[in-house]
Formats: sequence, structure tokens, C-alpha cells
Amino acid sequence: MSTEKDFLLYIEGLGVSFDGFKAVDGFNFYLNTNTVHVIIGPNGAGKTTVLDLICGKTKATDGSVKFKGSEIRGLKEHEIVRAGIGRKFQNPSIYENLTVLENLEISHPKGRGVFGCLVFQRTPDVVERIQSVAKDIGLQDRLDTEAGVLSHGQKQWLEIGMLLMQNPELLMLDEPVAGMSVREREETAQLIRKISKERSVIVIEHDMEFVKEIADRVTVMHLGKILAEGSMEHVQHDPKVIEVYIGH
Ligand code: ADP
Ligand code: MG
Repeated sequence: MSTEKDFLLYIEGLGVSFDGFKAVDGFNFYLNTNTVHVIIGPNGAGKTTVLDLICGKTKATDGSVKFKGSEIRGLKEHEIVRAGIGRKFQNPSIYENLTVLENLEISHPKGRGVFGCLVFQRTPDVVERIQSVAKDIGLQDRLDTEAGVLSHGQKQWLEIGMLLMQNPELLMLDEPVAGMSVREREETAQLIRKISKERSVIVIEHDMEFVKEIADRVTVMHLGKILAEGSMEHVQHDPKVIEVYIGH
């Protein structure tokens, strides 16, 4: 029998109520390493709230969240980041007036702290990490470009890169391809496949073609609960899923 120690993330009975309304209810989730797990479901299903609960932005009212075998429910957001969980929100939060290189640099764990980037040492290992991340996100030729002039897609990739600078074991992306062109979606799918070789990635997404390309496993949420779970092939033929989601 597998136990919680066999999983990177092991969630049981997770729930939160807002003024008596259960936005997430009895949520169970078991995530392996090197896995892309996509959460889909109609608007208001509770998908973003699940990520808020995992990263500590919202406090759970029920359940348990174990990361690498340790309980993280109740930890502060920065403690959860330090434990190895990075989370991207729907709107990119990059520094528009800094260059791509500077954005990546200040996201390096050594770049944080009391004096921030003012006294930051651009050591060889930091430079190497910036170059490797910039290459992964396809911005290796844009290091000196001000982030504000990047395309919408490039800004999204830069934010993913800023999270990768911390080398998280789990990365969570909320609707990463919203507003992207078809070409940018394809590149983002490749990026997610590539980065999942060294970590697990939870992705919330609506674009079913994109989900098919990236997902090892899919969870379908509806009204705060899990409606179905399994391979994309499995969930897309589930009559309940077709009724509440795919059929619309
Ligand atoms: P999804 O991401 O699946 O579209 P959300 O997780 O954003 O859905 O929201 C699920 C439900 O919980 C919605 O009805 C939303 O209005 C509600 N909700 C989310 N966060 C809060 C909050 N902080 N306070 C009150 N209600 C919230
Ligand atoms: Mg959402």
C-alpha cells in the first residue's frame, strides 16, 4: 500500500468555507514527482481556491496538506515557498521597469533579504542559473530587454522563470496560457513538459487542446468537489464531466 511519504503532495479532506459557503469541500489529491497534474472545471468550481489553500494564501477550515511527508497546512506563505512550492497567479507580477536579467536575478534565493538587489552579488553560480532559466523560458536573447516591452506571452514565461530561479519541487500555474496566441500556447506546453522533468507542476487550465498536450493526470472540479479524476482520455469520456463541463 502506498502511504503519504510516497507522494510529493498528499492532500486529504481539504476544505474551506467562506461565510458558510463551502468553496472547496472534501478535496483529496495525490501528486507524484515529475508529474503534470491539470485541474479543470467550470468557473467558480474552486480551482484557484485549491491553489490558495496549498500555498497558504487562504487558511483551510478542514483537512491536511502534506508536502514530502510533512504537514504544511498552517504554515505562512513564505515558509511554504521556502519548503519548495512556487505559485504563479493569473496576472503576471513582474517588475516592468527592470530588465529580464534583473527580474530573474532578484528572484534568486540569494537575491532576497534585507537589502534585496542593492547589495546583490552577481556570483558565477547565480549568472549560470539565470542563463539556464532564461534558455528554458526562451528569453536568452532578451536578457537586457526591459520586461515592460515584452509580449504578453513572454511576460508569462518570465514570471515562470522567476519561480524557477528558486528551483521549486512543485510549481503551480493558474491559467498560464490565457490570452496567448496559438504559437505561444504550443511553446508554453513544451516549457511545462520540459520543467516537469525535474519537478511536478499543477496547472489550472480551460483550453482542452492544451490540457491534452501537457497532462499526465487530470482532476475535474465542480461546486468545490472532485467530479472525476484520471487520464485525460478517461475524464473526457466521463458522462458527468461531459454534462457539467465539456458539453458546454
Ligand atoms: P475557479 O478558480 O474554479 O473559477 P474559485 O476558486 O476562484 O473558482 O472560486 C470558487 C468559489 O469560491 C467562487 O464562488 C468564489 O466566489 C468563492 N470564493 C473564492 N475566494 C473567496 C474569498 N476569499 N471569499 C469569499 N468567496 C470566495
Ligand atoms: Mg480560477
